[in-house]
Amino acid sequence: MTQPLPNLPRPLPRIDREHAEWWAALRRHELLVQECPRCKALTFPPEPACPRCRSLERGWRRSSGRGRVLSWVVVHRPSHPWFADKVPYAVVLVQMEEGFRVIGHIDVPIEKLRDGLPVEAGFEDVNDEVALIRFRGA
Ligand SMILES: [Zn+2]
Repeated sequence: MTQPLPNLPRPLPRIDREHAEWWAALRRHELLVQECPRCKALTFPPEPACPRCRSLERGWRRSSGRGRVLSWVVVHRPSHPWFADKVPYAVVLVQMEEGFRVIGHIDVPIEKLRDGLPVEAGFEDVNDEVALIRFRGA
C-alpha cells in the first residue's frame, strides 16, 4: 500500500554566484550560452573555466532559442512528491542551432515527440528569482 505523498514545495534550483548571470537572463526570457572570449568555444551548462582552452575569462552569447529534439525520456515515477500529479511527462535533450545541447521540459504531448522535431525555448516564470526553460514546438 502506498503512503499519501506529503504536500511539499516545488524543488527549485539553487542559484549560486557562478551561474547568477545565466539565471538573470532566463528571468528576462533570454537563453544565454557561455562563449569563451579567447577561443569562442560554447559551453553549456556554464563552467568556471573554458573546457577547451582553460581560460577563466567568461563571456556570453544570446541563443536564438531554436533547436531540434535529439532525444527524450518519459518520466513515469516522480523523483519528488511535487511531480506526483505531473507524470508521465517528457524531458528532452535539444540540439540548439548554435551547436550546444540543453535538457529541459517540453510542452509538446509525449505522443508527438520525434527525433529532429523543431522546437524553441519558452520560459516559465516560477517566482521572482527563478524562470525555467520550457521548450515548445516551433
Ligand atoms: Zn576557450
